[in-house]
Amino acid sequence: MTSDNARAGGTPVALSGMSLEELIEFARQCGLPPFRARQLHSWIYARGAGSFAEMTDLSRQIRADLAERATVPLLEMAHRQLSTDGTRKYLFRLPGGQMVESVLMSFQDRPSLTACLSSQVGCAVGCTFCATGFMGFTRNLTAAEIVDQVMAIQRDSGLRVANVVYMGQGEPLLNVEEVIRSVRTLGESVGIGQRHITVSTSGIVPGIRRLARERLQVTLALSLHAPDALTRGQIVPVSRKWGTTELMDSLKEYYQATGRRLTIEYVLLAGVTDRPEQAEMLAELVGGLHCNVNLIPYNPTRNRSGEVCYQRPSLRAQQRFAEIAARSGKTVTIRLERGTDIDAACGQLHNTYTAGA
Ligand code: SAH
Ligand code: SF4
Repeated sequence: MTSDNARAGGTPVALSGMSLEELIEFARQCGLPPFRARQLHSWIYARGAGSFAEMTDLSRQIRADLAERATVPLLEMAHRQLSTDGTRKYLFRLPGGQMVESVLMSFQDRPSLTACLSSQVGCAVGCTFCATGFMGFTRNLTAAEIVDQVMAIQRDSGLRVANVVYMGQGEPLLNVEEVIRSVRTLGESVGIGQRHITVSTSGIVPGIRRLARERLQVTLALSLHAPDALTRGQIVPVSRKWGTTELMDSLKEYYQATGRRLTIEYVLLAGVTDRPEQAEMLAELVGGLHCNVNLIPYNPTRNRSGEVCYQRPSLRAQQRFAEIAARSGKTVTIRLERGTDIDAACGQLHNTYTAGA
């Protein structure tokens, strides 16, 4: 987003989420030299300022001029929920009025915090077990809207986000250019290096290839969910576009281009994806990849008719599946769910909050 675009129609431009280059351009348009942009950059990203009033090394006059033309936050926090496990779910209002959710998680084995970011409002992929998929697709987020999710969480919580996963709403690789720009700004401005970032995709092959060409150091997570094309085609409809061989080849390309070990995500749906023979097929399929396998026990979601269509397998079935899959020689883990009590776990993000609910 350029500051020209943002100011069109008299709407003040929001600075949080902009790269340094964009801030320099904004400053130029305000008649300010580049060092003022660097001051703004430092206040917004290093010190987490949420208003110009806090920027005490700018003169009163400059602060007043800036406040007339611009705001610091891009996203408005509409609601926040706290889970019993400490997970926080945020509902943000975007310029234009649409809503997206982001989640802040902490894990007992790690002191650092992880933010789960949305890359689109809704999602067009339509996986049959995902609440975001049930919403349909509204629009892509801009890079600034992606970056400001982190800043807004930091401004609100006073905590520092160390890791980012693109596992909120949307399919990041159907918005790949803005996602790439946001990864760069997270590194250069927010201080979250690419090795602390994971991009999760339902398997958009051209997007995987595009990301490979960019040679970022982010972890790529593939939502495989079924080792056979038939089951996969049923639960991840977009997967019918590309054959399994083409998909596997694109993952190998990603590894060759970046040297980054992949993550294979696999949702466990009782009776649908958790059968022992599917675990064997999975072991065989991932055998040739440099990857870890992450099993995600199904989190219940309601479709548009209010039905929950799947069941989570028993703990025993989950473990049996993990044991068979581990015969591939890969590390196989079962994902620790966070925030289920506030619908903040994987696949549960859907923006249904209404004031007073
Ligand atoms: N669109 C991307 C990233 C968002 S979802 C993708 O699909 O990869 C992050 C992960 O949660 C994906 O692996 C997704 O398939 C999984 N997921 C979605 N709905 C789920 C549910 N109800 N229970 C468990 N995992 C789910
Ligand atoms: Fe979209 Fe991912 Fe949900 Fe599938 S799982 S509908 S790709 S957000």
